[in-house]
Amino acid sequence: MSEKKPVDTRHRAVRDVVRHVSFDEPAVFEKSVPGRRGTRITPPGRSLPDPGAWLPEAMIRKSPPGLPELSENEAVRHWVRLSSWNFCIDHGFYPLGSCTMKYNPKVNEAAARMEGMARLHPYAPESGAQGALELMWSLERALACICGFDAFTLQPAAGAQGELTALMMIRAHHRAQGNPRSKVLIPDTAHGTNPASAALNGYRSVAVESGEQGILLAGDVAKVMDEEVAAVMITNPNTLGLFEREIRQVARVVHEKGGLVFGDGANLNALMGRVKPGEVGIDVMQLNLHKTFSTPHGGGGPGSGPVGCVEKLTPYLPVPRIVRDEDGSFHLDEKMPGTIGRVRSFYGNFGMLVRAWTYILAVGRSGLGDVSGMSVLNANYLMTLLGGLFHRPYDGTPMHEFVLTDKKLKKETGVQTMDVAKRLLDLGYHPPTVYFPLVVQGALMIEPTETETPETLEAFAGALERIVREAGEDPEVLHEAPHATRLGRLDDTLAARRPVLRWTPGDEEDGNAS
Ligand SMILES: *Cc1c(COP(=O)(O)O)cnc(C)c1O
Repeated sequence: MSEKKPVDTRHRAVRDVVRHVSFDEPAVFEKSVPGRRGTRITPPGRSLPDPGAWLPEAMIRKSPPGLPELSENEAVRHWVRLSSWNFCIDHGFYPLGSCTMKYNPKVNEAAARMEGMARLHPYAPESGAQGALELMWSLERALACICGFDAFTLQPAAGAQGELTALMMIRAHHRAQGNPRSKVLIPDTAHGTNPASAALNGYRSVAVESGEQGILLAGDVAKVMDEEVAAVMITNPNTLGLFEREIRQVARVVHEKGGLVFGDGANLNALMGRVKPGEVGIDVMQLNLHKTFSTPHGGGGPGSGPVGCVEKLTPYLPVPRIVRDEDGSFHLDEKMPGTIGRVRSFYGNFGMLVRAWTYILAVGRSGLGDVSGMSVLNANYLMTLLGGLFHRPYDGTPMHEFVLTDKKLKKETGVQTMDVAKRLLDLGYHPPTVYFPLVVQGALMIEPTETETPETLEAFAGALERIVREAGEDPEVLHEAPHATRLGRLDDTLAARRPVLRWTPGDEEDGNAS
């Protein structure tokens, strides 16, 4: 018998993903054949209504709308094939930092698809929507409890809209004090939506540099803080994945001059169940349910960016507010004198709220703390596995995500962040966030999330290790990656400047359809 060899986990870890059949698929219009139909059952004794019989003449189209005509089989295959071209969280590891692509328990989907949830009409009278109102009221209370705030609104449809809403409330507060202000302080590590939200509210943003350790120092804030500053916008952990340790001191400096503290809570993944933002000096904050509370994210939405605040800002919250009456029933209150008004039609993206509520109930109070604990542990484990492979711009212990750069790799081999990202696609991984945050050149921002297993993290580290090895041996392989995907490297500039978003007849001839 031969000697038992130790298991080569590294080899297993970097093994290429299996190539699978990948169908070429034309646009649905190209597959159309006049008269093709799926199954249609007309109940006995009834014919399908003819809309032409009751629509006003002027509203009736003269020529057919030109919709594709396919058999049922073909229609199903078409969309299933297209979906197989996409990379999604159900396919593989998706370590996109700051955007939190986390696993969404399927039970959330089951809850959101329940008839009473999915088919409730937005114009249903309050008496017919008590369950939905109760769910929303309960979710508001749960989020307030998690964050240490007095109240929440569920209206904003995304994180950026939540920021906008929060800043509108801040502006309303200063106006109500008879003291409108002109500036907002924003650290240089902030997400781009922060200065955009400030600008939309008519504020000038003043950038505050983070110190050498990559965090905001109260002393630096004090230097630029004056009575024209409406608020500071802080992301904690910041986009470098570092905990803003001076958050309380920063809040004190800002509050002393009458300013407010806005927290960008898009990524509560490291704090949830452990730190209550309302208890460390934050006055108002948006959450991204689609990042922290497991609701699906990507593909253009929908998202949900609830805003919570401390008591003194509650008069400005958007209407309608959900109110619980003494008899336990719920109603919507539009009459709040200080309100900034409505920020979205109806009541927000209700399906997202059902998912987040299901998640919170399923995970439970202590589970929320476990989630953030695991996400921080996973980030630290992965960072440790990567050892000195990549340059790390800041030393501090990362929270739920960490940032590396291509500095060392580029100097030694000429291989850059974009090459690494493209090569990861060949190895079956979605790349991490690249070239963000902007303060770090050639950044790779990695967030593993709490639900990934050690084996997945080890395999991913193995893939990066292989890429670094390839960079030394044959950098061309990386410059030309990806090789194993349907399409090779795209011209990013052309795609951004001249996107072809719509198929028109004739496109198939000049190749635009691909
Ligand atoms: C994602 C994100 C936002 C914006 O959220 P959207 O839902 O995409 O509008 C804002 N700030 C930070 C820190 C984020 O990560």
